[in-house]
Formats: sequence, structure tokens, C-alpha cells
Amino acid sequence: MDGQYLPMSEAKVSVLDWGFLHSDATYDTVHVWDGRFFRLDLHMDRFFRGMEKLRMNLPYDRSAIEKILSTCVALSGHKAAYVEMICTRGGSPTFSRDPRQSENRFIAFAVPFGSVASREQLERGLHVAISNTVRIPPKSIDPTIKNYHWLDLVKGLFDAYDYGAETALIVDINDNIAEGPGFNVFAVKDGRLKTPAYGVLAGITRQTVFDLCGELSLCVSAGDIDRDELKGSDEVFITSTAGGIMPVSKIDETVVGDGKVGSLTRQLTDLYWEKHADPAWS
Ligand code: PMP
Repeated sequence: MDGQYLPMSEAKVSVLDWGFLHSDATYDTVHVWDGRFFRLDLHMDRFFRGMEKLRMNLPYDRSAIEKILSTCVALSGHKAAYVEMICTRGGSPTFSRDPRQSENRFIAFAVPFGSVASREQLERGLHVAISNTVRIPPKSIDPTIKNYHWLDLVKGLFDAYDYGAETALIVDINDNIAEGPGFNVFAVKDGRLKTPAYGVLAGITRQTVFDLCGELSLCVSAGDIDRDELKGSDEVFITSTAGGIMPVSKIDETVVGDGKVGSLTRQLTDLYWEKHADPAWS
């Protein structure tokens, strides 16, 4: 944090930081597997792109940040970890409302890897509920900026829990499927894959699925998916750094396909984990 390595319990952020007060921050989370980063370049690209769009500056270049992340992981002692890098607007010592007067701050931390879905959920597929909550800015303004704004996603999650499901998908302003709390979604129909195109975060795992589809010569596209189309899919899966590729077996009251993890989902998941051992993908 600001050039120092600290135990988590000593890492403190001011309540006046605009990241805390206004969600005025960008961040990225990278996955470390067997001591090696997975697709670090793509995460760094997104982080630096976000900072540029938010007009934030740090006194570190890309290689300095990569070094900080590596040190953070080494000091944490975790072989499998998530490393989160954050740039916040910071705060103004004079309480100025002019964001140009804040000093931007860099914070990174490493926590042990723990998948968002349990082994049991990965084997049977998740039960997802589609909430009526609409995904709202800032991601729908600029989906390349990864931001902590999650009010809509958290509301969707509570709607899903009330419904009796395990997680949520929320919709865009046209009632098409957008994304979930921390993940993108894919639908498979007749061997073709499709994922929402607009108003969603350009997830790195989503990108990885595009790349894996290229290797497997599978047809994949980005476009609108409405509720009925999603429910009528042969297979559905969700993607995130924190969970990889995770199957969905039920949407609201509809069983997806035959209710089991689909063969393309399985094939992509296996290849996804194989790539973690491939230095070309680190
Ligand atoms: N959508 C949202 C809203 C997210 O917060 C995330 C991850 N934090 C994702 C999608 C998945 O992105 P990635 O694959 O880069 O983890």
C-alpha cells in the first residue's frame, strides 16, 4: 500500500478516500496458480486502460506494478491466490470537491484462492435466478472500466436468494441478460456459443473462452440474449477469474438442457485448467 508491504490487519484506507465515498476507483483481480500468474498481461491492460479513462495516475509503470504483485504473492506465502490491484482517486487534504486535487493511491493484496463455486456446485451446476434489476452505469457507459459499483448486482443477488437460487443474473435496459455478481454468462445452442455484448464487463475469463473456442474451432459470438433464449439453451455457463468456467443447470424454474453439466462446458473447463500449466498463458 503506497509503497509499503503490510499485514492485512494494518492496511487501512481513509474514510475520505473517494474510492470509498464515491466508488471512484478501478481495480483488477489476477489469479495465481502454482506460483504463476494466469493471463497477467490482459489484466494489466484492463487496469491501465481503466486508469487512463478515469484520468488517474500512479507513480508506477507496468513493470513496477508487476514486481509489487509478485512480491505481494511471495510475502503472502500462497501458491494459489487472488491478487487484487486497486487505484483509487484518493482524497484531498483540504476536502476539495475537485478530483484533480486528490493524490491517486495504489493498493494491492493477495488472498488465498477459494473458488466461488464449491466442488459440489461445479459437479451439478448452479441454480441461477434472473432478477428484474437493471445493470446500470458505470459499466454500461464504459464496460472496459472495472469498478466496485455493485449496487445493482448485490440487489440482484438478494432477489436470487429470496427466490431460493444460488446466484443471480441481472438484465440490461432492454431486458436482455447482462451479467451476474462477478461473472459473465455464455449460452450454448446447437454447438454455438453466445455471450451478451453490451453493458457488461469485458471479462478476462470471457476473453479466455473466446480464445479457447478459437483453438477448438467452436463458433462463438457476442450479442443480445433474452430470457427465453437463455432458458432454451442446451448448456449455460458463467465465467470469472474467481471461479473459472462454472456450469449452470437451472434458471429460475427451468432446467437447462438435460440438467447435467454439458459436454462443451466440460471440454472448455478442462482446457481452461490445462492452460494454467502452460507458460505461454501466464
Ligand atoms: N462481470 C463483473 C461485474 C465482474 O465484477 C467480474 C469480475 N470481477 C466479471 C464480470 C468477470 O471478469 P473476469 O473474468 O475478468 O474476472
